[in-house]
Amino acid sequence: MRDLVDEEAENLRLIEQRARKISRLYGYKEVITPLVEHYELLAAKLGEENRKRMFVFEDLGRRKVALRPEFTASVARLVATKMQSAPRPLRLFSVGSLYRYDEPQFGRYREFWQANYELFGSNKPEADVEILALTNSLLKEIGLKNYFFKIGHVGVLRSILNHDGISEEQQNSIMQLLDKKQFDIALKTAKNAGSSKSSLDTLETLLNIKGRQSDAVISEICEVVKSYSEAIEAAGNLREIISILKAGCVDVDLSVEAGFARGLEYYSGMIFEIFATNMDIAVGGGGRYDKLIELFGGGQVPAVGVALGVDRLSLALQKQGQTTQRSEENRVLVVAVENSLLGHAFKISNMLREKGIVVELETMGRSVSKALSDADRRGITHAVIVGSKEIQENMVALRFMRERTQEIVSIEHLFERIRQ
Ligand code: AMP
Repeated sequence: MRDLVDEEAENLRLIEQRARKISRLYGYKEVITPLVEHYELLAAKLGEENRKRMFVFEDLGRRKVALRPEFTASVARLVATKMQSAPRPLRLFSVGSLYRYDEPQFGRYREFWQANYELFGSNKPEADVEILALTNSLLKEIGLKNYFFKIGHVGVLRSILNHDGISEEQQNSIMQLLDKKQFDIALKTAKNAGSSKSSLDTLETLLNIKGRQSDAVISEICEVVKSYSEAIEAAGNLREIISILKAGCVDVDLSVEAGFARGLEYYSGMIFEIFATNMDIAVGGGGRYDKLIELFGGGQVPAVGVALGVDRLSLALQKQGQTTQRSEENRVLVVAVENSLLGHAFKISNMLREKGIVVELETMGRSVSKALSDADRRGITHAVIVGSKEIQENMVALRFMRERTQEIVSIEHLFERIRQ
């Protein structure tokens, strides 16, 4: 786990702010769930990979608990209990830190942050599209330039396995192998589990079907799976989602992949991941999971959602040579020339802060020249120097740090002059 300082911390919080702004713009209400949950609640609903990677411990009340490795289980618990009678659709947003005992490497940490959006209550393709469109809006909002969505549908692969009576547990292991791109082992596992020769051939063909021409790719998938009616239905659902998305978000870049699988077991429909170009790890991912709420005893509630990795978004921006877009703001340093003027300095600082200006007050007792050269180094834009002669006339010296000019300004007009 890392200490985040300076820009790392600032960038993370900035992306978090933007994510919150998008949640508001799309009508998602924030929920705050505990960092620690009952182990059983998390373990029962997670994929094997995440289950093995939890930080688990016994608390002083001898309960087996764990640090949350994802938000979805906690949010699903809420929807199945406290929010069971809340009107649908229910749009929920959560953001915060998650914990997984992953092997630390580039973009993979044991403590990381996610922004998570979930839409409960609709099984319509427009709900899937909303999640994709919202993700696209967030990526634009933070200023990411080059990225694409990898998209697929778990129903295509699962219906072929279902057709041969492969158990859900075996299907889950096959999907996990596919997620890790271990195609040969996945096919071998399917064979050992009882897949027929023709199903194995179909699966193998599917694993090689992908491309940017979504209509053509989906038609190719339909041709390959034509004897599996559920698979055709799944591909049709994906076609509908993509056609609404393309009509609504013309600039979205999609790569349809028939062999795409995600590790988590609960996905039941469309799935996707977002990749920033120049980075081969996903910055976010999501999909439809219509059965999860039922697992929590909350009845049948269809759901679709996305989780964006805040740390990885920050890395992706850096790699693309973009800093997290900050609004250029004025930063002011207020310096009292002598101690007896500190009261005035505090008063002036507060007046400016109340008008929304970022103000630091010199608290090290340094001389004006030392305070100014430090301010210069730290990118302060204006210095307000409070001297005894000027204050008698309700004036201060205002120094424009970049221009290296200075003028005497009345306190009454100070804010206006800084803003100009
Ligand atoms: P998941 O919850 O596994 O679907 O992951 C969703 C997103 O969270 C990924 O696309 C990553 O951006 C991010 N993520 C997952 N695991 C980690 C990790 N160990 N470190 C940093 N980011 C992660």
